[in-house]
Amino acid sequence: MEHKKETHQFKAEVVKVLNLIINSLYSHPEIFLRELISNASDAIDKIRFKSQTEPGILAKDTELRIRIIPDPKARTITVEDNGIGMTRDEVVENIGTIAQSGTKAFLDAVETMKKKESIAPELIGQFGVGFYSSFIVAEKVTLVTRAAGAKTATRWESTGDGSYTVEETTRKARGTAVTLKLKERSEDEPDYTDEWTIRGVVKRHSDFVSYPIVMDVERDEPLADVEILKDSDGKPIGETTRKVKREETLNSMKAIWARNKSEVTEEEYTEFYKHISHDWNPPLEHIHIRFEGTTEYNALLYIPSRLPLDFSMRERKHGIHLYCKRVFIMDDCKELVPEYFSFVQGVVDAPDLNLNISREILQQDSLVRNIRRNLIKRLFDLLEGMDKEKYDRFYAEFGPILKIGIPTDHDNRERLSKLLRYQTTSSGGGYVSLADYTARMQPDQDAIYYITGENAATLQGSPHLERLKEKGIEVVLMTDPVDEFVVQVLRTFDSKKFTSAEKGDLSLGSVDEKKRHEFGGFFDYLKEELGDLVKDVKASTHLKDSLACLSGETYDLSPYLEKILKATGQKTEPAKRILEINVDHAAVGNIKFLFEKNREDPLLKDYARLLFDLALIAEGSKVEDPARFSRTIGTIMAEAITAEELIAGEAIEV
Ligand code: ADP
Repeated sequence: MEHKKETHQFKAEVVKVLNLIINSLYSHPEIFLRELISNASDAIDKIRFKSQTEPGILAKDTELRIRIIPDPKARTITVEDNGIGMTRDEVVENIGTIAQSGTKAFLDAVETMKKKESIAPELIGQFGVGFYSSFIVAEKVTLVTRAAGAKTATRWESTGDGSYTVEETTRKARGTAVTLKLKERSEDEPDYTDEWTIRGVVKRHSDFVSYPIVMDVERDEPLADVEILKDSDGKPIGETTRKVKREETLNSMKAIWARNKSEVTEEEYTEFYKHISHDWNPPLEHIHIRFEGTTEYNALLYIPSRLPLDFSMRERKHGIHLYCKRVFIMDDCKELVPEYFSFVQGVVDAPDLNLNISREILQQDSLVRNIRRNLIKRLFDLLEGMDKEKYDRFYAEFGPILKIGIPTDHDNRERLSKLLRYQTTSSGGGYVSLADYTARMQPDQDAIYYITGENAATLQGSPHLERLKEKGIEVVLMTDPVDEFVVQVLRTFDSKKFTSAEKGDLSLGSVDEKKRHEFGGFFDYLKEELGDLVKDVKASTHLKDSLACLSGETYDLSPYLEKILKATGQKTEPAKRILEINVDHAAVGNIKFLFEKNREDPLLKDYARLLFDLALIAEGSKVEDPARFSRTIGTIMAEAITAEELIAGEAIEV
């Protein structure tokens, strides 16, 4: 058999990521050990799970464990496991490359976070670049692995400078050993071959790993009395102890979800959260539940304090870990919570679960469905019970995800609607619930007025809200694309109808019939002049100070929804809108006067267009011909100023 040593180049992204890790994480070197232990633990999870259906796979090597072997003389540290191991192809696939999307997301995240040093360590675990953190401390990394059931092993080696080698080798047992040749270190840097340094790191980051992390340690053991040489006075001569080596387990392996709440400290909850989530921030909240009844199970769920950076990535692996009698079954068990709770992390341990269950049939399993129902209920209880300050912090991070539940979970829609929070025209930037809103509605108000758009500040100043504001009516400002669907699905809250403040007529008293009649001819002219731009021109029920605004009919798409649909590549027929004119505005009166005096006046054309453009600008849209707009305004300004100066009698003498 050929034992060829091949040299491969890392992909360009890998080199980039490698350099980034080394440069951005040198201040947190110790995490390399957590990452290697975590990989070892995953590899053992895999074989343990497989052994449930293939009992022979463990062979004689049934004591699953992770071993740390420091060698102070050689300046190496090895992390070894008897997990599933890797074939040669798997080594090249897993170690030589990084999940494509992961790399891109990682690089992007680093780019945006560059200045915030505190973000760095959390990036590592989340983006699946864990193995490469070895190069923070190592000048050379050697991995020797033998896959379960394989005869030969593979040796991978790299100095992290752009290439790696792979060759066939032998290894006595199944599993993987990763050996780091440590870089030179200065006096004040930690020594990762030192027993106490290693113990400290393991305790800090890997205490909850569910397999023993063992290490041989040397201890002074007292000699037996008969072994000690003594002088004539009975005083010992020479050594009274001898050095012995023994294996010690460094982690406590506490399955804290299986313990009683009263036995677990807050610190332990937090540490465990960090362990499963790879998040360096403490969680916002946790719930630890033991369900007893027809079936029993434990659940320990956490709500993070921040939305993870990689939240929208498909390969994200966190979420809820499913165990059966402490045997790990799968991570990120999506069937246990709905999408709108997908940010929840934790563990569910269900002893009655069928171990052979596959992801595909998990959804139909009645026990899983039962657990899911209960978890949802408990999560609702948790959120409803939070004080305002905490809930606001929660909502700022996860509100947009929570809202996904409104269109998707019919059964919990009402409960979810109570958890919604919005800024409003009178909330002063704060967030209020819909219940707060309805509680302070005007006595004769029977609708919840809302307006949608990209940002609250623009919405706050929208001309559509002028009449409503005048009447002291609060308007909900909706700035999340999902909100469009939320109102469409909810339709009402507390039997009050959601009513768009920018569509249709507001039932706030109608325009004076006489005025409507007076303006009829002028509006016909505007409609003809603007042609295809508008569907109709009419007197506004929204406006007080502005001249004009554009509105849709009740069932038209809102301009914001139109924009969203366009952005997602959907074809929409741009809805022609109605130009609403403020018939009480002096400027409108003047233009009408001009129209009645001389319909042929060339200025009229400009004014007609200007009314339309002003309406566009007020809602944050772009005017089609900005140059023309600017020219018209210039002309008007020139005239206005001249007129004023003349009145004041201060015309400039030439
Ligand atoms: P992550 O663990 O986040 O996927 P890593 O870069 O740390 O990213 O590891 C890449 C892949 O290499 C792992 O997903 C796993 O398939 C494989 N791997 C790493 N270490 C081991 C190990 N000790 N045993 C078996 N496979 C491993």
